[in-house]
Amino acid sequence: MTHTPMMQQYLTIKARHQDAFLFFRLGDFYELFFEDAVRASKELEITLTGRAGGGDERIPMCGVPYHSVDAYIAQLIEKGYKVAICEQVEDTKQTKGVVRREVTRIITPGTVMEGKLLGEKENNYLLGVYRADGLLGLAACDISTGEFYATEVRGITGMLDEMTQYSPSEIVLLAPDTDGEELAERLAPYHVVVTRRPPNLDGADRPQDALGTLFSDIAGERTCTESMLVAIRGLLAYLEETQKRSLAHLHRIQLYEANEYMVLDPFTRRNLELVETIRDKTKKGSLLWLLDQTVTAMGGRLLRRWIDKPLLGVVQIERRQRAVEQLIDGWMVRDELRTLLEDVYDLERLAGRIAYGTASARDLVQLKTSLATIPALKQALAELAPEADVLRELADGMDACLDVAEIIEEGITDDPPLALKDGGLIKEGYHEYLDKLRTASREGKQWIAELEQQERQITGIRSLKVGYNKVFGYYIEVTKANLGTLPPNRYERKQTLANAERFITPELKEKEALILEAEEKRTGLEYELFVEIREAVAREVKRLQALAQQVATIDVLQSLAAIAQENRYVKPQMTVDGPMVITEGRHPVVEAVLRGEPFVPNDTELSHEHAMLLITGPNMAGKSTYMRQVALIVIMAQLGSYVPAEFATLAPVDRIFTRIGAADDLVGGQSTFMVEMKEIEVTLTNANARSLVIIDELGRGTSTSEGMSIAQAVIEYLHDVVGCKTLVSTHYHELSHLELTLPRLQNFHMAVDELNDTVIFLRKLIGGPADKSYGIYCAQIAGLPERIIERANELLSSYEGMALPATADAAPVVIVAPEPVAEDHVQEGMAEVTEPASDAEVQLALFEETASSASP
Ligand code: ADP
Repeated sequence: MTHTPMMQQYLTIKARHQDAFLFFRLGDFYELFFEDAVRASKELEITLTGRAGGGDERIPMCGVPYHSVDAYIAQLIEKGYKVAICEQVEDTKQTKGVVRREVTRIITPGTVMEGKLLGEKENNYLLGVYRADGLLGLAACDISTGEFYATEVRGITGMLDEMTQYSPSEIVLLAPDTDGEELAERLAPYHVVVTRRPPNLDGADRPQDALGTLFSDIAGERTCTESMLVAIRGLLAYLEETQKRSLAHLHRIQLYEANEYMVLDPFTRRNLELVETIRDKTKKGSLLWLLDQTVTAMGGRLLRRWIDKPLLGVVQIERRQRAVEQLIDGWMVRDELRTLLEDVYDLERLAGRIAYGTASARDLVQLKTSLATIPALKQALAELAPEADVLRELADGMDACLDVAEIIEEGITDDPPLALKDGGLIKEGYHEYLDKLRTASREGKQWIAELEQQERQITGIRSLKVGYNKVFGYYIEVTKANLGTLPPNRYERKQTLANAERFITPELKEKEALILEAEEKRTGLEYELFVEIREAVAREVKRLQALAQQVATIDVLQSLAAIAQENRYVKPQMTVDGPMVITEGRHPVVEAVLRGEPFVPNDTELSHEHAMLLITGPNMAGKSTYMRQVALIVIMAQLGSYVPAEFATLAPVDRIFTRIGAADDLVGGQSTFMVEMKEIEVTLTNANARSLVIIDELGRGTSTSEGMSIAQAVIEYLHDVVGCKTLVSTHYHELSHLELTLPRLQNFHMAVDELNDTVIFLRKLIGGPADKSYGIYCAQIAGLPERIIERANELLSSYEGMALPATADAAPVVIVAPEPVAEDHVQEGMAEVTEPASDAEVQLALFEETASSASP
């Protein structure tokens, strides 16, 4: 048995949209059929029913009412699915047979326009990725804001580095079916929706138009390479496939070199908790959280971009620093700016919705309100000191788009309803014919209102009233009790209720027809006029976007200034390639969340001659806090912020690599040790002399002797071959002998005080190696049963008392830590070795020592 014509239509359309839930419009519902219905009923918790469709069996079906479809779509998108919306594109009244239907839009995680699904201060990126041998083209677009970027990177690792800074919600992998497996596999751990599409390599294919206009308008210094072209083309084709409408609001494509900015690999972004914490993946507790005092959503998104892409050029960094400084000095202006920014809505997304054709009249009013604050914003900036060059330039360049505000002001009512089809959108006096329709309907209504009075008088029935309902229109209602007094045949009887009768008169119906006609025409015309106004505003979308950028920049700068002032940060001096000197540096986030306890500041000095610090000290002493603090200070400086220190001189770092703590499993199913080795591999192959490398607890996760050997080999390689600035912490305090053979390496440790049976962490970094690791002490603080602690101490003493094996006939090397180190020893506390020993001897002795080091 064949399916009914409608089901045949459904099946044809569904065949073209296999990877999406097909929402098939049937009257007032969107229906899902077959497998879609079975899955959707589970995902959306809606009832699964069935329908006869001409086939042998009933067809599984479920549906949602059209007016609440958005919420259901949102649920599916959040779960990473796609939804294809299939509408009736013909008037049902005028067609015979099955009404024509078409998919009018496909909503995917990366192409969401609806506010509900978008984080206010977050971008929602869709990424296009194309690989040609070792080079990968990358295109990134946020259709809600219109941003569009493209670059080319080397290798999959380079792609992952670049990808993580966008945190895309969807990736279009432009690879032929047979290819791209490796890429897809490498993307799997990131839990991003991957859509496969074949690449378009000859360029003579469709979205020629979209491409043509966008390509004539590419920004950025660098040229567009073949791989970038394929990625851009693929992304645009996918947008065309899913959106099926104007994307005039997309910005010019910004081409950039990935190495125009500091490169941060996914491990490092995560380890440093730049935009979310490792533990619960929330913004709270991250650097972004600390720095974010932006007022507007655009400002919030831009700040995040600055954190994601720290600058490399001293001139650019200093420009931002100057602006921050100007706003610290001009704190009164800053307060005023904040107040004004409160009234600025999300210009970027408003502009996006306006161009996209989904903006409501309320959106237009929000745009108008936002624009109204711009002149005051400019005025406030003009009050800054004359030297405030950066901000003055910014203010001078701002186009307040007053003509756009004027268009809205003239046409759109001040408090329009959300619905677009019920009128109430357009101001009186805006359109002559519209005013006439209004008068007609008003007069009709007036006549009806008077009718009530008039009929009450004539009939003497005081409770007589004129009412309206959707089914019968206008009527005259008389209660049963009064029917007796009603003159016969005065009205036509229409409807009988329990205690009243409803009547009409020919004249009443005539007026009603006039009113309804005028109303229908009025609402239709209002909608038309509204769309005209929206289109007129849409033509200015580029200007609105430029303004949005400027407002966002001001917002971020005021936020950085506020934070700097609040937390007593200083402006770091930037040099092109000088040493890194940080006096009394602090960890910005730990400092902010430590309640009561003061944060202990520490110094850092790294130069070409002294590029490496080997930091020892017990667990919990503050080693990793210190090392992260250095990395965060560098990132803050390069994004243009002030830094938590008394004084700082820095040279731009091109990349930061971190290998920190026991990273719990990122890649899925891999041992911590394997993850650590992978991170180390990334570091060793990519670091150079301008990089900063931070390795915490190097070499754990395997046997002590292996761990220590790996640690030493890595340290030697970084020291001898790479020559980068390096901070390494290790609980193998035995490694401190390396200071003897590696001239650029210095030993440091986190000071502790022992008082009776307790260890006091001083959190102070001082010169020289630590003498023991206090592992058992840590276990005790962690709350292990006393019995275990006692036993461990017992074992430790017996290990320490063990005789050295007889084979160790070379004189054992004893590494002596300086006596209880005082703070003023800072630079000099180096390990003393009783007598010169060969490398091999040192090694041997070290391994033997290992037995006694109760490393946690
Ligand atoms: P380690 O890496 O040596 O095990 P951490 O860096 O994790 O130690 O520090 C342990 C805790 O000590 C941190 O969570 C923090 O609360 C506190 N801490 C670290 N450094 C400082 C400091 N300089 N001042 C105050 N508290 C600190």
